[in-house]
Amino acid sequence: MPESLVLNATYEPLCFVSARRAVCLVLKEKAQIIEGDNERAFRAEKIIVPFPRVVRLLAFVEVPRWAKRHVSRTLLFARDRYTCQYCGRHYSEFKKGECLTIEHVKPKSRGGLTEWENVVTACNACNARKADKLPMEAKMYPINTPREPRYIAIVFLANADDVQKRWLEYWIR
Ligand SMILES: [Zn+2]
Repeated sequence: MPESLVLNATYEPLCFVSARRAVCLVLKEKAQIIEGDNERAFRAEKIIVPFPRVVRLLAFVEVPRWAKRHVSRTLLFARDRYTCQYCGRHYSEFKKGECLTIEHVKPKSRGGLTEWENVVTACNACNARKADKLPMEAKMYPINTPREPRYIAIVFLANADDVQKRWLEYWIR
């Protein structure tokens, strides 16, 4: 169960790991605890380590470019806060049979690429309505201009507790 948020040396969110793994990083002096919980401390030999809710790596880790560029449904929907970028409805407001889809602002059939700057989250109704049209033809413009999320970690928000969220939200949009 991933429960500790790992930040890069720059404080950029990197990943979630198990608390045990985070404690190992701290004991090996590869990470420092940024937010710890003393009530759930780990005891190892003579040392007591607070439960690591947020740790920061002491050395900078390069995030592979492909990991940032790759568009996935999970990340895209998280970037757009699970909200259709045309009608503005959150997926919790969807009727039965409606779902979130990937919508190409410049349609694939017109040479649009599947890249962060050209895809938005749309409900299936809006996606069907826009079909193979450009925004100006369909008179449908995304609420937020699509762009690459600054950091892949936006998806972590769903799993984060309130303390961890504070460290994530700074990096979003
Ligand atoms: Zn919609």
